[in-house]
Amino acid sequence: MNAWLEGFLAGLRPEKSLTVSEWADTHRILSSKASAEPGKWRTSRTPYLKEPMDCLGTQSPIQRVVLMFAAQTGKTEAQNCWLGYVIDHAPAPMLLVAATVDMGKRLCKQRLEPMISDTPCLNEKIAPARSRDSGNTLSSKEFPGGMMLITGANSATGLRSTPCRYISCDEVDAFPSDASGEGDPVALAEKRATTFSTRKKVLLTSTPTIKDFSRIESEYLASDQRLYFVPCPICGEYQDLRWKQLQKEDVNNVKYKCIHCGELFDESHKTKMLRMGEWRSMKEGDGITAGFRLNGLYSPLGWFSWKEMVMEFNKAKGDAPLIKTFVNTRLSETFETDYVSAMSAEGLLKRCESYQQATCPEGVLFLTQGVDCQIDRLEVSTWGWGVGEEAFLVDHIQLWGDPHQAEVWKQLEIVINQQYEHENGKSLVPVITAIDSGGLHTQVVYQFAREKVAQGVIAIKGQSQANKPAIGRPTRVDINMKKYNKSIKNGSVVYPLGVDTIKNTLMNRLKNNKIGSYGYIHFHASTSEDYFKQITSEKQLLKTNKRGFQVPVWVLPSGVRNECLDTWVYSYAAMCLYISRFSTNTKNVWQYLQNKFNNADTVVKPKRATIKTTSKKDFVNYW
Ligand SMILES: [Zn+2]
Repeated sequence: MNAWLEGFLAGLRPEKSLTVSEWADTHRILSSKASAEPGKWRTSRTPYLKEPMDCLGTQSPIQRVVLMFAAQTGKTEAQNCWLGYVIDHAPAPMLLVAATVDMGKRLCKQRLEPMISDTPCLNEKIAPARSRDSGNTLSSKEFPGGMMLITGANSATGLRSTPCRYISCDEVDAFPSDASGEGDPVALAEKRATTFSTRKKVLLTSTPTIKDFSRIESEYLASDQRLYFVPCPICGEYQDLRWKQLQKEDVNNVKYKCIHCGELFDESHKTKMLRMGEWRSMKEGDGITAGFRLNGLYSPLGWFSWKEMVMEFNKAKGDAPLIKTFVNTRLSETFETDYVSAMSAEGLLKRCESYQQATCPEGVLFLTQGVDCQIDRLEVSTWGWGVGEEAFLVDHIQLWGDPHQAEVWKQLEIVINQQYEHENGKSLVPVITAIDSGGLHTQVVYQFAREKVAQGVIAIKGQSQANKPAIGRPTRVDINMKKYNKSIKNGSVVYPLGVDTIKNTLMNRLKNNKIGSYGYIHFHASTSEDYFKQITSEKQLLKTNKRGFQVPVWVLPSGVRNECLDTWVYSYAAMCLYISRFSTNTKNVWQYLQNKFNNADTVVKPKRATIKTTSKKDFVNYW
């Protein structure tokens, strides 16, 4: 064949498809500015990164890659190699998600941009940031055949961007559990890739945090759970490296004890061991999710030594926050924390009583409701209240429909006016229905509350700070657009709730299992196990606040539902608001309510006044 024809045919042949590690070994350059080891990228330096990186290449059937890695093991570099590969070799739209929008910008400035400027083939494809309309900013990078969007998990808007084939989520354990009220940020981001079905690639990376709350751990546990096995330099048997096998007595002579032959060896063998290592699955996976876990013992020679690790551990011993950091960042394990308070659903099923669902047993004097708005439904709890805040679960229902449509609100109107049969032959209609206005449906909730104020509907909003009153003074939320900052008379109001305060009260009372005692909580005959699981879903942890103090905070473990708890909290706040109406003119509000109930007609429903007041201080007693 002549040279011309050969060249012509070579031109027609499609470019050889590279794996991510092949691409990085061929093209990636590390500058002295960005790396302690400048020069050509060598995957062989961190052999354990090859497989996770190659799972992200187009020829791998894997669609989700989970990296639960210790600090200083190179997970960031694996992600960088993938970003370079996408820009240069497999272009398509890509979404890069950091914990916050600011951290996304930092990631772009400190990691992505240096890599682009150091690597010639990337530099060619991305216009310099200074040229006008270059498509190169801190939140987006355009390149031939694709673009990279950089956002934060705290921005629902950023996560709702155009379809993206590649999704990369960085340090997912730092993500908020909820993206500005629109739900799980990882799920929101992954939705972007749905249209690409089997060709999509999702990367989740993080060092883990607290047990039960760690997103990366629950993702890893749901994967095929790969561990890196390396051969013992003495007997040759393969094993994964474990912290407890490290002989830590002499800091200057740290050795590893083989679990097979029991012989000791030092770190000098690590380079060879890593090169001969291989990932092994501990669990059968779904075939499209690959999970990798690596602790700090694998950190290559010259990065972070066993000696340094032992010294760090010795320093952290006895200091809870330092030990937690060590366990998370070095061992790549979650930290088991002592909960300040946690309830278990176990045993609560036995607490179901004989009264029927949606009926009021003896002792109930009035009813309140709490409503939670989800994307596709409303959840409504109805609670009965008796002397001394004795509580009775009457009903919990779901009303299906998009809260942005009128239909589901028509269903709710029926529920707020429903008569619940009382054991003594009377019927009760809920006195106050409290609807959460946080999240996606704020305006719809305000409107419903404004229209149904005469039927006892109020809008509420949870406050995140601790030690707030159960229900606070309402604030006006309708603003007159013509007169800036002037609220509209007779417009909507919203009540702030001390959610943490209420949860403390309810969880303490739930622990009390003596029927008839103060604030005892009753459950109807058909209360389900799932209901009990939801009301006990949250756990109280110590968290450091902005001023550096440790404060107990209620937190929801990852992947757990809690609407039943939220709607109970709202019902409780509604009860507090209702009794506050009487507290000014009655010494014993519960005795007063008891007499009122005894003397009432067949349907007990207090008259509710509409808002007529104009001054702020009048609001508290307007019911
Ligand atoms: Zn051995």
